[in-house]
Amino acid sequence: MEKIGKRFQGKVAIVTASTQGIGFSIAERLGLEGASVVISSRKQKNVDEAVVKLKARGIEVLGVVCHVSNAQQRKNLIDMTVQKYGQIDVVVSNAAVNPSIDAILQTKESVLDKLWEINVKDSILVLKDAVPHLRKGSSVVVISSVAAYQPESPMAMYAVTKTALLGLTKALAAEMAPDTRVNCVAPGFVPTHFTEYITKNDDIRKTVKEKTLLNRCGTAEDMAAATAFLASDDASYITGETLVVAGGVPSRL
Ligand code: NAP
Repeated sequence: MEKIGKRFQGKVAIVTASTQGIGFSIAERLGLEGASVVISSRKQKNVDEAVVKLKARGIEVLGVVCHVSNAQQRKNLIDMTVQKYGQIDVVVSNAAVNPSIDAILQTKESVLDKLWEINVKDSILVLKDAVPHLRKGSSVVVISSVAAYQPESPMAMYAVTKTALLGLTKALAAEMAPDTRVNCVAPGFVPTHFTEYITKNDDIRKTVKEKTLLNRCGTAEDMAAATAFLASDDASYITGETLVVAGGVPSRL
């Protein structure tokens, strides 16, 4: 981490759902590389605490409350960013939920709606608001999951929404070219609050680890490094792609 460069000097990056876990690490990484970062999540307290942590690392940061399903808060996120920094160069769409472990055909309609809404629709709506302010050479990174390639129980429907993000990445890359690149990161298993129900169980954790070729779980920093690469000019000829960051677990050829 100490050897990182300054690829985002003079750039402004918005990361949704970024007060902890993978989103926080992405914001931290982009910030350490020189970006002014705009972090957000549902709870003011979490936003405030994350802002303090990032400032302590010397990062220029703005914190805004934004539940990605709230149209007013989405608009406010973009408005506050533009008011403070005058531009947007990077948007990382990271928010997702996994409210049920039911089989797909047992999943309640309200849960199906919520999965679609937060994991897919709201990613589109955040971008819709951001688009008028995106600069030439800007970049979008969507956070999917390696589960997108093999949607399996007990989170098959969640995984199917992540499969949709692979398609969304391709479609938006065409729609937003040539001025904005759109790519995707598909994380493997990372111990975070989101996966606490798995990390709590030593046996499941061991099985997950053993499924990787590298014999370890991923870290939020691993995901941040991949996201920073795709968002940076180092990836300036890459668009519409998904980078699997999963320690070698089976995904696609
Ligand atoms: P996490 O540690 O649980 O963090 C979730 C963050 O999102 C928190 O800052 C939370 O703050 C915020 N948040 C939750 N719901 C939100 C909403 N509706 N609107 C705005 N912010 C919201 O989660 P994570 O593990 O880092 O997951 C991040 C992304 O990585 C997700 O897209 C997930 O699907 C993907 N992913 C994770 C893994 C893994 O193993 N962890 C694997 C593959 C993919 P508040 O509570 O304040 O809202």
